Amino acid sequence: MIIANFKSNGSEQMIVRWVQDFISNIDNNHTTLGIAPPYTYIEKLERLLSDANQNNLKVGAQDVGVGSGAKTGSVSSSMLADLNCNFAIIGHSERRKIFNESNELIREKLKNLISSKLTPVLCVGESYSDFENKKTLITIKEQLNECLLDIHIPQDIIIAYEPLWAIGSGKTPNPTDVNEINEYIKDVVQSATSNNYVPSVCYGGSVDVANAGSFFDCSNIDGALVGGASLDGKKFALIANEFNRNN
Ligand code: PEP
Repeated sequence: MIIANFKSNGSEQMIVRWVQDFISNIDNNHTTLGIAPPYTYIEKLERLLSDANQNNLKVGAQDVGVGSGAKTGSVSSSMLADLNCNFAIIGHSERRKIFNESNELIREKLKNLISSKLTPVLCVGESYSDFENKKTLITIKEQLNECLLDIHIPQDIIIAYEPLWAIGSGKTPNPTDVNEINEYIKDVVQSATSNNYVPSVCYGGSVDVANAGSFFDCSNIDGALVGGASLDGKKFALIANEFNRNN
């Protein structure tokens, strides 16, 4: 799956333009794609996509709250389900860093998504210092083990491997290295969960039209989580077309 993460970007006008640009550039019969706009634009985007018969595009959220009730500012998984969201991203490094989210909290979010039957897109990834000190695998294993402890994962779960130093930086790791890390992630998830399921694992971090193909050529890279380049409907469509050609 190729997933767009708009982060805290966009406007009513941008969403309309995005859909037009996307539709003018996407190949027919494309694979399932996901778009995570800010909460406030979810319904508008769903309406525009449905009017354009773009039924292979799933709309999702960039995060989810834990539970409901006295939690000011929080949007629960059942509210996302009411909005017809298909998936939600959890554990993005920006949430971990800016909002101090721990693996334990992310695990609670995961449980909430599972109970509302939404597809979880769980992000993991190492800092630059972990990368330099060759601690990538240790960090990822810890994140996965803590986030997935005792979880019976749904078959549709997606793990997004996103090295922090590649996000928004224009720097990318070697696709061959990502391929090996993704294979490792599949093994760890299979052993960490109670139902031994092997998940899809995407790559995220400065994916753009020029480099997307080099990632999609690799057998263990099952898609991409795209930030900056996804804000342009045409670029996102071209990345999705590249994925279609390789799958
Ligand atoms: C992201 O934030 O998940 C991301 C991958 O961003 P970018 O594509 O801009 O690096």
